[in-house]
Amino acid sequence: MGIRSRIFFIVFSLLTVSISIAYVVAERDLSTAFKLQIVNELEKQANLLVSSVGNIDKFKTPIEADSIANDLGKASNSRVTFIKNNGQVIGDSELNIDQIALIDNHISRLEVREAIEKGKGWSSRYSETLKQDLLYFAIRDNKETEPNVIRIAVPLTYLDSATDTLGLSLVLLFVVVFIVSMIASAVAVNFLYSNIKDLADVATNIAEGENKKGDLKALPTQRGDDFGKVARSISQISEDLKGQIKMIARQRDQFGQVLDDLGEGILVTNKDGEVVFSNEQTSIILNIKKLSNENIKNLKIPALNYLFKRVDNKKRADIEFEIELEDKTTRWVLGSMNTSKTTGDYILVVHDITQLRQLNSMRRDFISNLSHELRTPVSVIRANSETLLDGALDNKKEAKVFAKAILHNSERLSVMVADLIDLSRIEYGDLKLNIKKIDLISFMDDFVTSMKSVTKKKEIEIIFKSNHYDFVKADPQALERIMNNLVDNAFKYSEKGSSIEISTITEHQHVKVMVSDSGVGVSDEDKDHIFDRFYRTASARASDNKGSGLGLAIVKNLTNSLNGEVGVESKNDSGSIFWFTIPID
Ligand code: ADP
Repeated sequence: MGIRSRIFFIVFSLLTVSISIAYVVAERDLSTAFKLQIVNELEKQANLLVSSVGNIDKFKTPIEADSIANDLGKASNSRVTFIKNNGQVIGDSELNIDQIALIDNHISRLEVREAIEKGKGWSSRYSETLKQDLLYFAIRDNKETEPNVIRIAVPLTYLDSATDTLGLSLVLLFVVVFIVSMIASAVAVNFLYSNIKDLADVATNIAEGENKKGDLKALPTQRGDDFGKVARSISQISEDLKGQIKMIARQRDQFGQVLDDLGEGILVTNKDGEVVFSNEQTSIILNIKKLSNENIKNLKIPALNYLFKRVDNKKRADIEFEIELEDKTTRWVLGSMNTSKTTGDYILVVHDITQLRQLNSMRRDFISNLSHELRTPVSVIRANSETLLDGALDNKKEAKVFAKAILHNSERLSVMVADLIDLSRIEYGDLKLNIKKIDLISFMDDFVTSMKSVTKKKEIEIIFKSNHYDFVKADPQALERIMNNLVDNAFKYSEKGSSIEISTITEHQHVKVMVSDSGVGVSDEDKDHIFDRFYRTASARASDNKGSGLGLAIVKNLTNSLNGEVGVESKNDSGSIFWFTIPID
């Protein structure tokens, strides 16, 4: 039921009840007053009857008594009854003689008894004889002892018509009440509505999350009545709500930030597989730009379909799978899917395990390379020692050859072991660097001088060219090791009579040092691998050149420790340029 109907119902019910009570009281008072007036009239007429009849015992026959009653009844326009002192009716203007003979004794009638006892009496009741409501008035006749009773009665039809009029008025009054109730409820509702509507509008806006500043200002918070109270409460609720929303948003942002900062990708789906949350890392790892509102089943990654099916069957699942990237490289991903205990959603966690896989394969390669590289000199040493023991020792000339081979390979072994130890010290950070400001030109001059004996022996010339004066930040020993390895290689892979050039240029806050030779050069294919441990080109393996395949790996690790980079370029004619960078001081 709406407010309008309720108010109408309340007003209408209240007015109806009040009017009904008023009607009942008015009708009762009116009928009493009316009856008393009739009684008054009847008393006057009764007195007249007594004075005209005197003593009813004077009637000799019932016929006479009844005929006199009939005459008097007609004359007074009322019912006249003669009743003996013992209650016997002897004449009645409304009954004939036969009916009078059958009528019951009237001594028990209230008005008759009162008349006999007190002189007069009245009452009103329904007459079974005449079948209508009558008002009776009884009075004693003139008989001295044991007086009889003369009774006069009139129908109460006047009273009925008066109450009928009252009833009609009541109906009219109800119509008026109905209209008044309608108008009153409309006025009340309009008053309430105009006040409540503003409050309701603001409350609805708050509920729908569209709370604007202007809305709250429109609230009648200054009013002293109940509407003011409600307005103040709404305003307070709105402020609290805003604070809580801000707090939740901040917490969500923080949480989202934490999830975005995680190295792992996290993706949440509902039971149908629709993505309800995913952090930035998931898009990166899965190489899918848009994940929100997607369905995990439509992502075209079979491994994710597998995980979803397993987890849908209430099983936790893990799988390693590949993602093909645009540059044709492969990313390895470990995906684990589980069901959230609180929400029942499915949570997918993805890790990029490419590096881990590469490390594993590098470790495997390293071990197999190491065994291979160590086995060759060890086998040579063993074979030569066996030959010596088998009798070659007796032949001085042969023994010298075998002993030389043993020496050469043991030197190779010791170089390799020393390089390996250095490399692991650099890689594990055990090498303590002593970073200093170094005058690069004087450092290079000294370095070139120190190589003099080697250059002479190999008939290879070293030239140092520097256009400008530079100071760099580096560890002198590490820098010397880098230069040693690069220049040593340049010697190893160049022909007699050629020259090696060392030059420097400045580039992006770094000095680029280039060691250029006119040797065998490096093919494009080899360029990608020569800085790996144990990597030696096929021609280097075939040549007499001693080497472990660790020199350039050491150069790379040392330059990286000095915050520099390393690389190789082919020269146009022949040979190669090995370069590295070191920060300018
Ligand atoms: P190695 O002990 O074999 O010299 P490195 O790590 O120093 O080991 O070098 C790796 C490989 O790179 C060499 O085996 C060789 O094939 C190639 N290389 C290095 N320097 C040069 C160069 N200056 N010219 C041509 N090839 C080179």
